Amino acid sequence: MNELQEIVTFEELRIARASLPEPVGFVPTMGFLHEGHLSLVKRACEQSASVVVSIFVNPTQFAPTDDLDAYPRDLERDRELLREAGVDLLWIPTPEEMYPPGFQTWVEAEKITKPLEGAKRPGHFRGVTTVVAKLFNAVQPQMAFFGQKDAQQVAVIRRMVRDLNMPIEIVASPIIRERDGLAMSSRNTYLNEAERQAASVLYKSLLAAQSAYKKGERSADSLRRVMEGIITDEPLARLEYISCADYDSLEELTVVSGKTLLSLAVYLGRTRLIDNLVFG
Ligand code: AMP
Repeated sequence: MNELQEIVTFEELRIARASLPEPVGFVPTMGFLHEGHLSLVKRACEQSASVVVSIFVNPTQFAPTDDLDAYPRDLERDRELLREAGVDLLWIPTPEEMYPPGFQTWVEAEKITKPLEGAKRPGHFRGVTTVVAKLFNAVQPQMAFFGQKDAQQVAVIRRMVRDLNMPIEIVASPIIRERDGLAMSSRNTYLNEAERQAASVLYKSLLAAQSAYKKGERSADSLRRVMEGIITDEPLARLEYISCADYDSLEELTVVSGKTLLSLAVYLGRTRLIDNLVFG
């Protein structure tokens, strides 16, 4: 097994980064790792000569009412999983290291952050782009690995990398799911038993819409209604939004023609879950 070096500060990162074999692959995470994260790490290990993983529960992407303090953490387990996976460098910056007193410079993508998650979570993507830009600047990876689970996040990061001329290839990986279809997420641990069972309804609704599409349905409204019907049939689920949007622009569609992103956010009790599916 390889040596997993663990560091905290930007200065330590700079020194460790200097001796990493190129190309460097980078996987930013908020920790409490599951198979979804590990699929990104595995891909990074396959495609890069060395791999850096960060664990940082980024306060600026949480709203004041969000679950920042309750966000699950298990550093010891994460460390072990990353060591087994063959990661070279684990960076666990502190909030003070990331946002020292006087911090006031933000990275913000505009149009692409307005719909979907951005509409429901004001300020979320400003926190994401700012922290990812800071992480990218420090790690200077040739490749960075993200999950399609957070589809809008991938689109926003791709936009930022293009707009700011960052020489980084953004690699997006498929959603890893539980046996019943529930997309893996650190937040799934908040679900009680009944909510956990009901949670498979998100993927079921996506599959139903996909099946309608395969049968020839091209009205975006009809596809949204198929999904909505399945979510509202589940008494424990409370729908926040359903979207049938153009994959690149994230603009809502009337008629489905090209590459399409179906996505939704649903509350089960107090836990907010998101999922999506791409077709066309
Ligand atoms: P997080 O720790 O939630 O910030 O996630 C870190 C990275 O893992 C992000 O790029 C996520 O999109 C990705 N990720 C989270 N869950 C999954 C999943 N079920 N399948 C694939 N990637 C995932």
